[in-house]
Amino acid sequence: MKKLFALLAATLLWATMAKAQTADSVDVLDYDLAIDLSNGRPFTGDATLTLQLLRPCSEIGLDLIGMVDSIWVDGQKLSSPDVLHIATDGIGVGQPFTVRLCYRGYGYVEASGWGGLHFDSRMTYNLGVGFGIDPHVVGRAVFPCRDNFTDKATYTLRLTAKESWSSECSGVLQSRVIGSDGLERSVWRIDQPVCTYLVGISQSAYSRLYDTVAGYPFTAAYTSTQNPAMVEQVFAQLDSVVPMFERCFGPYRWHRIGYIPTERGSMEHVNNIALAYQAMGSMSEAGQSTIAHELGHAWFGNLLTCADEGDMWINEGGASFCSEVAHEANHGRASSNRVYQRDLEKVIRTTHITDGSYLPLHGMPHSRTYGSTTYDKGAMVWHSLRGYVGDSIFYAALHTLFDRCAFSNIDAYALRDSLSLYTGIDLGPFFDFHVFGAGFVDYRAALEREGCAPGTMVVRLRQQGVATDNLARASRIPLTLVGWEGQTCKTIVDLDSSEAVVTLTGLPFDPAFCVLDIDCEISDAATVDIIAAGTTGDYGNDYCHLRLHADNPESAATYYVEHHWGHPDGVDTMAGVSRTLERYWVVNSLQWGNPGMQARFRYVRTGGNYADLDRGHLTLTSTVDSLGLLWRPDHRSPWHLVSRTHTGRNEGFMVYNNLRVGEYAIAVVDSNLLDIEQPQSASPMEARLCPNPTVAGEPVDLLLPDGEYTVTIHDTAGRRLWHRTGCRGTCRIDADLTAGTYLVHIENNFISLQSKLIVL
Ligand SMILES: [Zn+2]
Repeated sequence: MKKLFALLAATLLWATMAKAQTADSVDVLDYDLAIDLSNGRPFTGDATLTLQLLRPCSEIGLDLIGMVDSIWVDGQKLSSPDVLHIATDGIGVGQPFTVRLCYRGYGYVEASGWGGLHFDSRMTYNLGVGFGIDPHVVGRAVFPCRDNFTDKATYTLRLTAKESWSSECSGVLQSRVIGSDGLERSVWRIDQPVCTYLVGISQSAYSRLYDTVAGYPFTAAYTSTQNPAMVEQVFAQLDSVVPMFERCFGPYRWHRIGYIPTERGSMEHVNNIALAYQAMGSMSEAGQSTIAHELGHAWFGNLLTCADEGDMWINEGGASFCSEVAHEANHGRASSNRVYQRDLEKVIRTTHITDGSYLPLHGMPHSRTYGSTTYDKGAMVWHSLRGYVGDSIFYAALHTLFDRCAFSNIDAYALRDSLSLYTGIDLGPFFDFHVFGAGFVDYRAALEREGCAPGTMVVRLRQQGVATDNLARASRIPLTLVGWEGQTCKTIVDLDSSEAVVTLTGLPFDPAFCVLDIDCEISDAATVDIIAAGTTGDYGNDYCHLRLHADNPESAATYYVEHHWGHPDGVDTMAGVSRTLERYWVVNSLQWGNPGMQARFRYVRTGGNYADLDRGHLTLTSTVDSLGLLWRPDHRSPWHLVSRTHTGRNEGFMVYNNLRVGEYAIAVVDSNLLDIEQPQSASPMEARLCPNPTVAGEPVDLLLPDGEYTVTIHDTAGRRLWHRTGCRGTCRIDADLTAGTYLVHIENNFISLQSKLIVL
């Protein structure tokens, strides 16, 4: 289900709001519903329910928003028809019996104008779920039923349509005839057990597009206001999406695929998906995503349903995850990764504001059932679970899950246990943090090469909670190592505590640095951008909030940027820093400093497209002039306040010229108490190897910035070839270097930097 933002005013008609209280006293097995919409409102219904008692009881109640005229139990007419009190004396537990009700409905629509049965000038249609009604299911707006997320039954729908109109409904069409009165009568059958909220009925002066998708009959009904060519175009993606979904989740179980348009929004009715007009009217990414989301419910929600509304993330997060899978099917993994990172950025930045606080996925309160946490963070967690166990195991486990649990219900605990069984991996720690807990985890990984033998490397790992004190146990962190030649290899490092030191062995090359989760496999509180910056122009994506501007013929370089929503450690102890943004950047590159590269780090005091970016940490009480840009060369070094300019006043960028690798943070500072590091005095961009590349046997000069340094040269196997302390100014490197690539490391108490020297 997907809501449109512009909700129409409420149309609340007079109605009898009958709501049964005894949830598990009776089970409906089948509904046979004759609904006559030919006269509009009120409409008439004749419903025969086949039920069985689950425990001995003398009466049952049914849910209905409407007026009951008469009731029969096993053919015996009741003298006083009361939908809430239907006598079942003498009927045994498990013994099927029928209840027939003749009733009138009025087209009830919830106060927010969404869920219910809509009688519009162009069409009649229902939306089976309401945002502002308890329970959220509103099958009872159309027919008498047990209206909940667990009672699943089969259905026969017999629709009589308004003159010159035609019906589209859930189920498979059994017959469609025009009577002597000129009215269309159609019969539809749903022979799989489904919940009441998934039964969709509609009528309009429809045109139809018929097709076959992946072997399934396909119908898109549309109205005269729509462009048939566009209708055909928007569904073209299904030719690749349906096979992809079947590969990922198992067979499509619903015999046919159908969509109808609505003005209010989209809803995953079985075989008869209600789709917002906008999604059927353009090739927008949002529209394509919605088409896939609703179809994804054929597995997440319709086939396997959350046990109650508190686990709606299983349905809606799963369906939103399907949108990502569909995007990947249509545009490839690189493109879906960019969409994923954009969405992850938005979730971390805004979901807790939209939903009022950081909420766990499980146990969602009624008022937030259909909130951003359920949909958007839910999708992130399904995505992250995929990354946690790996594609082949993940999708094999989902196949098994949807096969063994088809047409049933599941809660988060049973889902955890089932998937643990099917994957062979204990998912307890994953669920504890991501499903049963609120907030996010931010990981930091950095190499420490001192003392490492060739082919080995030490990685220092740390995690910090974002809006949580919980520890993400049994974390599996994808790490990409980048070598001095730009070569890469990926590894997974395990972290079961707040920090750890891990030794990597058997490395194929000497890594220069490491980058977190380049392939976007986990939903940690960080986004990653690989910026291949050229010699001139602007580069970078907004989801890392760092833009690069190159204006020098020699400035082309590749930057690996991590944007972390974590607290930058070590800043709080700096005198003169009153508070820091709860974000920081890690910038890595094979290029030390870069005189032609300008970096622009986004800050937001108020307004703009990222209004919530620094909410709570940076307010209008801080002037833009009080914002300082902090830099340090690596995670062990102290921070320095560096010289910067800025754009904007309420939101904009801290602008830093001559980009160098290291970590960056923005803080509110008292510049009277802090020295601003002048680029001219200690900037490593002044450090240059001349010439570089060089040729074997020729001397090389290392031009150092002000200060005294220790200089060390390693080969790519990690062997130390040259070492000198107390270097100043111009340092002649007189090592006898043969052709190859070498790592030059300069450091003092303030700077620790590396670059490569190429000998031809
Ligand atoms: Zn949905």
